Amino acid sequence: MAQNQPYRGRIAPSPTGLLHLGHARTFCIAYQRAIAANGTLLFRNEDLDPQRSTAAFVAAMVEDLRWLDITWQPPIITQSQRLPLYREALQQLLTAGHIYPCTCSRKDLAQMVAAPHEETDDEPVYSGRCRPVPNEPTSTTLHANTNYRFKVPNDEAIPFHDENLGPQSFTAGTHFGDFLVWRKDDIPSYQLACVVDDANMQITEVVRGADLLKSTARQILLQRALNLSTPHYFHAELMRDANGIRLAKRHDALGLRTLRESGLTPEEVRRKF
Ligand code: GLU
Repeated sequence: MAQNQPYRGRIAPSPTGLLHLGHARTFCIAYQRAIAANGTLLFRNEDLDPQRSTAAFVAAMVEDLRWLDITWQPPIITQSQRLPLYREALQQLLTAGHIYPCTCSRKDLAQMVAAPHEETDDEPVYSGRCRPVPNEPTSTTLHANTNYRFKVPNDEAIPFHDENLGPQSFTAGTHFGDFLVWRKDDIPSYQLACVVDDANMQITEVVRGADLLKSTARQILLQRALNLSTPHYFHAELMRDANGIRLAKRHDALGLRTLRESGLTPEEVRRKF
């Protein structure tokens, strides 16, 4: 665990839509925790998904966060400009035998889903179909246009302390399976990019939504495999709408833009958290 270092936090929005009240709450918490610790807050633009990320959403999120009086230390760090860093980590994982190529198609994966998608996690537990048999020699040469998966230690519990929610534990192979670290369209997965960047940016505490709790367990495994230290974690409770549904980017009524255009002040928006 990162200890006795000056606090360095980050906000890491994805420019795939307009920010809503839930994002605003998480980012305000991140900002306040950095201020309270007399630390630094950085801004990472998680724009790796080329199909969904747009420059217009980047501009909108920057404007909305400034309007909320959230400030960060420039410059904004943009993931799509850091591909060599992620590729280096990918090679390190391959050389150490932590990952393997996976040729399953989207259709194969859809048919293999053992449990229904949970609301709080996006990646179903992988069946292990492409996992190499133990001790089988595998190539350490990276191939283009290939999905790579991380081999999780099945049945091992991955415990961690959450600064907000207390002790957490997820079991590899049960709560999550061998997860993607690289996509065949040549971009790193969120898990890999996040771990590489949090280490490279020397983040001491990650503040993010509780929908990412299981991802934290995955990321701890990646940190171990890459010999990186584990930051502290603070997962903020998710906000729900009046029907109890978790806020999503399509919740226009609770979008920051809509609230702002309806005449609310930043202070009035913060009171809705
Ligand atoms: N970009 C992610 C999101 O918008 C957050 C990732 C993180 O904080 O680790 O949900």
